[in-house]
Amino acid sequence: MRFFSRNSPRCPVCARLSSDTVGGEQCGACLQSPPAFDASIVACDYAAPVDHLIQALKFHGRLAFAPLFADLLARVVHGQRGMVGQTEADLLTAVPLSATRLAVRGFNQASEIARSLSNRLHLPLASQLCIRVRDTSAQAGLPLKQRHVNMRGAFIVSPAAPSLSGKHVMVVDDVMTSGRTLHELAACLKRYGASRVTNLVVARTPAV
Ligand SMILES: [Zn+2]
Repeated sequence: MRFFSRNSPRCPVCARLSSDTVGGEQCGACLQSPPAFDASIVACDYAAPVDHLIQALKFHGRLAFAPLFADLLARVVHGQRGMVGQTEADLLTAVPLSATRLAVRGFNQASEIARSLSNRLHLPLASQLCIRVRDTSAQAGLPLKQRHVNMRGAFIVSPAAPSLSGKHVMVVDDVMTSGRTLHELAACLKRYGASRVTNLVVARTPAV
């Protein structure tokens, strides 16, 4: 079934499909410029039919798809447990939306997926762990270099958050494209003491 990608040669760090990752080695991009996160687990490629389902969840409020995506991710996580140096995680969180975006959309699709996933993985969910302090909504229209600048300082850890010291945090998102958002969030979590960050992403776009 093409839907699942566990047998594809993905980089264990950024989950990019790559011919040079046979045997689970990191891709050249991660070796050259290591991201702040330690690993990425994706359920599938960002392609039909999943792209339509994600858009339906995100832009048309089809919240019933969130548990479906959580199921897909949980299966891949269980299948990969113990591989690529993963250790059991301490808590789960989701990539936050800015307050403005959240007010417009009414929900955070990543949080909806994370809530279902929390039950399936038996991991505590810290949905308010991080705050997006800058709206980076124009990200998609920017060239890659400007995206990097645009994302800097986009996140803080909530003052009410529990201590992250030495914790392995799993971060849920719906789509991973350049990986820059997840990098910035992981860098923020590590500044606050997290020892390891693993991304759990429903769908990965081809290399950008
Ligand atoms: Zn990589």
